[in-house]
Amino acid sequence: MQFYSLNKNAPNVTYAEAVVKGLAPDRGLYFPENITPLPKSFFDNIEEMDNVDIAYQAIEQFVGDEIPEADLKEILADVLSFDFPVVPITDNIGTLELFHGPTMAFKDVGARFMARCLGYFNKDNDGHVTVLVATSGDTGGAVARGFLGVKGVDVVILYPNGKVSDIQERQLTTLGQNIKALRVDGVFDDCQDMVKSAFLDEEITNVRPLTSANSINVARWLPQLFYFLFAYKQTKKLGKEIVFSVPSGNFGNICAGIVAHKLGMPVKHFIASVNSNDTVVNYLNTGKYEPKPSVATISNAMDVGNPSNFIRIQQLFENSFEDLKKDFSSLSYSDEQTKLAMKEILSNSNYVADPHGAVGYLGLKDYQLSENEYGIFLETAHPVKFGDIVEQTLNLKVAIPEQIKSVLYKEKEFKSISKYEELKSYLIKDKQYK
Ligand SMILES: *Cc1c(COP(=O)(O)O)cnc(C)c1O
Repeated sequence: MQFYSLNKNAPNVTYAEAVVKGLAPDRGLYFPENITPLPKSFFDNIEEMDNVDIAYQAIEQFVGDEIPEADLKEILADVLSFDFPVVPITDNIGTLELFHGPTMAFKDVGARFMARCLGYFNKDNDGHVTVLVATSGDTGGAVARGFLGVKGVDVVILYPNGKVSDIQERQLTTLGQNIKALRVDGVFDDCQDMVKSAFLDEEITNVRPLTSANSINVARWLPQLFYFLFAYKQTKKLGKEIVFSVPSGNFGNICAGIVAHKLGMPVKHFIASVNSNDTVVNYLNTGKYEPKPSVATISNAMDVGNPSNFIRIQQLFENSFEDLKKDFSSLSYSDEQTKLAMKEILSNSNYVADPHGAVGYLGLKDYQLSENEYGIFLETAHPVKFGDIVEQTLNLKVAIPEQIKSVLYKEKEFKSISKYEELKSYLIKDKQYK
């Protein structure tokens, strides 16, 4: 499969090249040349298929023959080694729990898949690539865990000092080996700006090839489509039309859901539920796309003012505003509304939702499901990852799962930086360590 740049000013590339490069040379996002629907028999038989088989059939056309069937299946079996249950919340609403992986947020699957693909492409050569990534919390941990020990890959993670939770900081500073953490005196946008400057800085990229592990990378973005297929597999027997509500920040997850729909999966409607960062909500109301600086909320993994994957969503609807609005809507919720929703879910359904999941729940409530519709909101992180807010809002204690306990008492290791020049000299000099 060939991938082209959405800025249409760069050569087409293979899957392997798209993964290694991350972003096209014209700064465009890579997008698959074709999306061929899966045969009807796939959806007829999905309840009998195991997750690895479902994932293989769905992703195979994008990977092409660059990873042979047996190797790709092995990668998928390794990546998908935990559960993705749909848990009933009310009569007509369920939540798809995506937090059963090693770092307890949904980014584990994308990060692990991308890491194993890069490792595969590097296995027979001395190719060396540095994954450079800015994180506001969950991405860093998932990428650190996913890439730990992968041959030919160094990982450098930038995170804002004092703006990530203690658990999140430990998840990205305690692993060692090929994972390095840089603590930036600034906010997330400063980290992101430094990363963007580094990608454009040939003095760095000439000596040290860089790639991104944000959802702009096709290997992190596309495997998220599995979630929607796994949800369909579990709820098909209800015989209802599915409405998905996806708590969205960079819109990578929901965009992958729309790819699953393009592959032929029946979906009635997609709701991108967001916090006060409402750029897309405004776009759908006015037709004008006006990115703005992000504002801080209690669902901070969605604090994004200019969602990078929205352009891919527009492409999936062939840039038709009317078609987009038929299948897709977006709704915004304040922190107060989010906390009330967390309380409502606890008192009505005895379920502890994290703030991101609660935003997703609100989207379904406002959609007003009909008799023959079933709503699924994605629970994108375990409540323990946002423990302070959850415990204060719900007045309870969240038990700490094993995955998290294992990092709690390890020593944090990081280097502090405050200026781009420090990142630059680090990337150029630190090349010696490999
Ligand atoms: C990253 C993240 C999101 C947003 O996902 P996008 O694909 O960027 O829209 C939502 N919730 C949690 C917990 C996250 O970590």
